Amino acid sequence: MQPRDLSAHTPYRAGEGIEEVARDLGVAPDELIKLSSNENPLGPSPAAVEAIHDAAEAVNTYPKAVHTDLTAAIAAKWDVEPAQVWLSPGGDGFLDYLGRAMLAPGDRVLVPDPAFSYYEMSARYHGGVVDRYSLDRDNDFEQTAEAVLSDYDGHRIVYVTSPHNPTGSEMSLAAMERLADATDEETVVMVDEAYGEFTTNPSARRLLDGRDDICVLRTLSKSRGLAGLRVGYGLVPEGWADAYDRINTPFAVNKLACRAGLAALDDDAHLEQTVETARWAREYMQDNLDAHTWESGGNYVLAAVGDGEAVADAARRAGIIIRDCASFGLPDCVRVTCGTRETTPQAVETINEVLVELEAA
Ligand SMILES: *Cc1c(COP(=O)(O)O)cnc(C)c1O
Repeated sequence: MQPRDLSAHTPYRAGEGIEEVARDLGVAPDELIKLSSNENPLGPSPAAVEAIHDAAEAVNTYPKAVHTDLTAAIAAKWDVEPAQVWLSPGGDGFLDYLGRAMLAPGDRVLVPDPAFSYYEMSARYHGGVVDRYSLDRDNDFEQTAEAVLSDYDGHRIVYVTSPHNPTGSEMSLAAMERLADATDEETVVMVDEAYGEFTTNPSARRLLDGRDDICVLRTLSKSRGLAGLRVGYGLVPEGWADAYDRINTPFAVNKLACRAGLAALDDDAHLEQTVETARWAREYMQDNLDAHTWESGGNYVLAAVGDGEAVADAARRAGIIIRDCASFGLPDCVRVTCGTRETTPQAVETINEVLVELEAA
């Protein structure tokens, strides 16, 4: 007895955890600076931490009311109907729900290249067949409707990431609208705004009204600092009505995550400080890294460093964990998450030293 043939499925490779690296290097975790998974360097909202403590004694009952409350709070925040909010275990969970709701075996989907790897994985789990459109490096990974449409052929789901991970590039709302207009009636454009808080560009939420072919992914993992709790959601067209109730895993988001999410959504001070710090760090890295960097709308910067793996390895030995981008098909690049006002300069200094050492070697 064995699982079904999973050879077409590739395992998800997350950025290394700080505990693993610490064990490996024989140092304490707090001696390391982890800038490899676009996590919030300021920690979670203190209000969320308090809410988790307060809710701990109540985890023996299912999160029915609080699930409804969080859905209502998100709906109010975006001025949509509660039925247009698909709560999910992380933004990743929304990708799965979208696959469940949209894909029949053999349906084709179109993902960017480079891309966040879970689009492809999730689509495959749901019987989808994956094609790619490329973002042109010579054009700074510019995202236009035309770039997507040149590889479009009636796909069921088209994935757009804006701000894009790992390059930082963005697609304008006008381009998204053009894309959705140009694709078939049975195609949905999924706009992933996992980093939506860090850009000054408006959310694709503005395109939802009156359309049934665009949906938006958001998450509390990045800007709200709740990656460890797994809470995200999709904003979907009004016309999709009761699909969520038919496809979601019951109580998609757990009680602690719902309570923390409610508190975090209310904590404007934490969000403001997070965004301000990230924008500062982004500029600091662009100004001070001795490598080519790209404009970024996210809380990270992509840098061309020559041998990404060698640079990430050497930085790691020096206590700075960054993401080597070989798995994104960018082996000469690293992605560095925005740290704090203390850790960002330390990271830049270390990476610059590593670049000199590797150059000399
Ligand atoms: C982090 C991320 C997500 C979702 O992360 P969750 O922790 O599952 O919410 C989605 N898309 C992109 C591009 C991401 O980087």
